[in-house]
Amino acid sequence: MDVISVKNLTISYNKKPAIKGVNLNIESGHVVGIIGPNGAGKSTLLKGMLGLLPFDTGSVKIFGKDIDESRKRISYIPQREQFDWDFPINVEDVVTMGRYAHLPIVGFAKAGDKKIVADVLKKVEMEKYSKRQIRQLSGGQQQRVFLARALAQESDVYFLDEPFVGVDAKTERAIFKLMKELKDEGKTLLVVHHDLSMVKDYFDKLIMINQTLVAYGNSEEVFTPELVNKTYGGRLTMLQKTEELVSG
Ligand code: ADP
Ligand code: MG
Repeated sequence: MDVISVKNLTISYNKKPAIKGVNLNIESGHVVGIIGPNGAGKSTLLKGMLGLLPFDTGSVKIFGKDIDESRKRISYIPQREQFDWDFPINVEDVVTMGRYAHLPIVGFAKAGDKKIVADVLKKVEMEKYSKRQIRQLSGGQQQRVFLARALAQESDVYFLDEPFVGVDAKTERAIFKLMKELKDEGKTLLVVHHDLSMVKDYFDKLIMINQTLVAYGNSEEVFTPELVNKTYGGRLTMLQKTEELVSG
């Protein structure tokens, strides 16, 4: 069964379509990159799949069900600037929030939850910072905390919006490693990526989008100069540069 099935999805802001007529069927066990120029509708597609925006047309099914029924199986890490970094909360609490779907109504974390929180913090090498206020961390450390929170949810599908932006090399490696581990566990990852570097290393499948879907398929097959140029329109004018990126 497809993990995600998107049919004829159109989403607009103020009556202006950001994505139009998108059709996609994504199978489990892949790291799927979503690439396209600025304003192409990458974040809109992700939020649409998550049911966070109203649709003009179309439908989204996750594990064959409506999003609301699958929500517990989904983790989402938004683009970083969307968080309120002044919120006074420490690392451990942020990650514990990832367990809320699993907690009883009253919401107190049990020993089992605490162990999971400690384990995932260790996995992203942030165990020493558990009592630190989130706003005191570097951009990369913050990103690893949000990664830990997503891991604590023990989801089947992970949506990451530009996780590599503004992070240090250590965090980049940690994210890359985690993506591979999750994929090997049969999980599905959808990852918005804003540039063309590392595409073939990071993603085994690619969604190429610029309002409409340009291509979806194995990175090896769709990450070609022709399709990259089609996706980036006139914005990537030097074909030479594209060829370097695609082959490198
Ligand atoms: P990307 O993530 O590929 O950069 P977005 O999905 O964020 O693109 O945006 C797609 C288009 O929709 C852009 O033209 C953007 O300006 C517009 N847009 C995004 N969010 C909003 C919003 N909340 N209100 C109005 N327009 C928006
Ligand atoms: Mg975006």
